Amino acid sequence: MEQGHGAGQREQAQRRAQEAGLAAARLTAEGVRAVALTWVDVAGLTRVKVVPTTRLAQVAAYGVGMSPVFDVYLVDDSVTTSPHIGGPDGDLRLIPDLDRLTVLAAQPGWAWAPADRFEQSGRPHTACQRQFARRMTERAAERGIGLRMGFETEWVVDPPLAGPAYGMARIVERSQYVGDVLGALEAQGVEVLQIHPEYTPGQFEVSVAPADPVGAADLAVLVRETIRAVSLQHGLTPWFGPVIDPEGVGNGAHLHLSLWQDGRNLCRGGDGPSGMTATSESFLAGVLDALPALLAIGAPSPASYLRLAPSRWAGAFQCWGPENREAALRFVPGPPGAEDAANAEVKSFDPAANPYLVTGAVIAAGLAGVDAGLRLPDPVAGDPVNAEGARRLPGSLPEAVDHFMESATLREALGDALFEAIVAVRQGDTKLFDGRTPREIAEATRGRY
Ligand code: GLU
Ligand code: MG
Repeated sequence: MEQGHGAGQREQAQRRAQEAGLAAARLTAEGVRAVALTWVDVAGLTRVKVVPTTRLAQVAAYGVGMSPVFDVYLVDDSVTTSPHIGGPDGDLRLIPDLDRLTVLAAQPGWAWAPADRFEQSGRPHTACQRQFARRMTERAAERGIGLRMGFETEWVVDPPLAGPAYGMARIVERSQYVGDVLGALEAQGVEVLQIHPEYTPGQFEVSVAPADPVGAADLAVLVRETIRAVSLQHGLTPWFGPVIDPEGVGNGAHLHLSLWQDGRNLCRGGDGPSGMTATSESFLAGVLDALPALLAIGAPSPASYLRLAPSRWAGAFQCWGPENREAALRFVPGPPGAEDAANAEVKSFDPAANPYLVTGAVIAAGLAGVDAGLRLPDPVAGDPVNAEGARRLPGSLPEAVDHFMESATLREALGDALFEAIVAVRQGDTKLFDGRTPREIAEATRGRY
């Protein structure tokens, strides 16, 4: 691998090694023995390689190996293939992002860092989801647009709780647990905005402060794995799948986003609808327009469509509205005096989605809207079931994939290798659950993510 490195790459590797050496010394002094390096695959599962802290410098410089075939893994760990990726050959290097190196509060002796994936030559892996999100962030920056994003995390614990939806009784029943989740996140430097019991028995939600797009996706991973660790310590099994019981309300992974220019929030202070600026309106119109195709990324499992139903606050209609929780795109103006909190929430996405693909694809769709000067349709108030012009979003994964395959914008943004891998994995997961009942699909997927 040394051979493929140009002089510049060798220098960069040395710099990373130096930085990692210092970090490793600090971690060792804190009793950290192992560092988990994660990335999220196309099916939405977080995969890992673990390295001893003593090897962190070496790994920061040259990475640790992992096969590219994981890009075509299905949700049950069976393997499909795609035109560019598949088969047993090849190796990629996982390089940790040291800026995000975090000591894990609920896993004593462990630290974590998200990884980017490179070829042995040192070139970025064309299907690296995290670098895709970064590329799209840079594209937005080239147009003078900064983005702040945040994912909500919803999950259900098993065994569930008896108290009512959003009920204080559920917090009292599990106050030690909820307190430990909060404590672990805070100890890791994660700024929690709120945490509460949700609609379904045993369901909770936590939201964290917005970050840059890649940072928001990293946080989605860190928050989920922290919740998993605390849950297991409490003898609870956490379910992050989109649907727990096909008859009930599922788990969403709503994406909040706002656009910024020169320190100014473009979602407010304009003369567009709900006070948006023209750039913000066009960006959101691009996202709304592309939603049927974006679902192949944000609602990526056959299970996603058991969740994405009307009257469950899941965002099943292709429309937008200020503070409308049934619209796919809810606009949040922010309370008087705190208008800088103005943002938009994409509600249709769920926790089976790879958060890096979500952030990158949403930016690509939004920038296409800006380039085309798209305008938003009229907002929808009330239940979109009754609204004219509020179309139902795709009701199945194959339907979403049909829209995805027609999206020149997403194909160009993702690049052929990643685009084709996404199509192959969606088709593979569809086949996997062909002829299975909703209950079987829910039971097979809810514990996988
Ligand atoms: N659990 C709902 C979903 O599936 C969301 C509820 C809420 O708006 O917080 O998206
Ligand atoms: Mg919620």
